[in-house]
Amino acid sequence: MWRLHLHQHPQIPLNDTKGTYRTAEQIHQQATQDVYQYCRKHGLVQVWAYLWNRWYTPKQWILWARASCDAIPRTKTTMMVESTWAQMKRRDLHQFNRPRLDLLTHVVLVNLLPRVRQKMEYIQKKRRKGRPHPLAKWQETLKRDWQEMSKPDEWRLMLKELVCRKKGVSGQLKPQEKEERLTNIEAEKVRPKGSYHTNIDNMTCSCPSFTLSRWLLCKHLVRQVNEKTGNAPLNNLPFFCALRRNHYPPFYIIPGVHMATPAEAGACPIDFEGPGDIQETRTQERQVSPVTSQFDHGNKSEPEDSEDRGFERSSPFCSEDEGENSERVSSDLISLISLICQN
Ligand SMILES: [Zn+2]
Repeated sequence: MWRLHLHQHPQIPLNDTKGTYRTAEQIHQQATQDVYQYCRKHGLVQVWAYLWNRWYTPKQWILWARASCDAIPRTKTTMMVESTWAQMKRRDLHQFNRPRLDLLTHVVLVNLLPRVRQKMEYIQKKRRKGRPHPLAKWQETLKRDWQEMSKPDEWRLMLKELVCRKKGVSGQLKPQEKEERLTNIEAEKVRPKGSYHTNIDNMTCSCPSFTLSRWLLCKHLVRQVNEKTGNAPLNNLPFFCALRRNHYPPFYIIPGVHMATPAEAGACPIDFEGPGDIQETRTQERQVSPVTSQFDHGNKSEPEDSEDRGFERSSPFCSEDEGENSERVSSDLISLISLICQN
């Protein structure tokens, strides 16, 4: 229940018959009510007091709930910044306990900054020119997940069953646990398929998997994209090189679905880094997504290119990995380093 409250968002349809969109206030109200009813039903007075004061009160809600922000960030926590500091502590400062600030500044300038520059050049394809650019770690994971979601349900269940039986034979699973898993798989085979509101234009779906997904993807969307593009994502490696997640719908700009394919456009392979493409995708995004307009309050006077409102390019520091154990360096830290260098 808590995970669902964390991931719900006004731009993600609910899993009901109409696929309704709730406002941020409605999501907060409903989440609080769910928790209250649960605690009341089980007589958890102290738990409710804790949850309200530390999590669900409006003051705390905006700190952790996805619904409190009109955009959907790519990351869920501050793990990128923490990862950078953890790397510095273990790699550069492992001999120092509570180092002085001047030492820390020295380490940032001498040790961290060259690594950041090297990574930036690598991501911007300034190094190893003429050689194919490999996928970043998070892109490899995304590709693997995409391929997994592309498989038919029968195929996935069969693989799951085979793995379960193999683990049972090798002793990795206890007999009781194995039986439970096999029972669940059998129940899954006969379970009627759900009916969800899948919108390929906005790249949204009302199924629970989409809401909880790290990539904001689900098998329904993946299969529809595969069908519409003739399985292009499965046969085209540059597809994942160019794929970026947006903060506003459509959450992905996919050639052949939201824009012309390179062949149709009569151009070179689409480069998402080009400013023209970005402008084009921004324009398309506003055309495709009327929902976005209701979240643009307070920013209507800003020029469109003044800020990455819709299609935000991936930060050069996030291409290594956007998931756990990521080595992304925060933009605040880089700004700090730049200021120090200028001074
Ligand atoms: Zn779905």
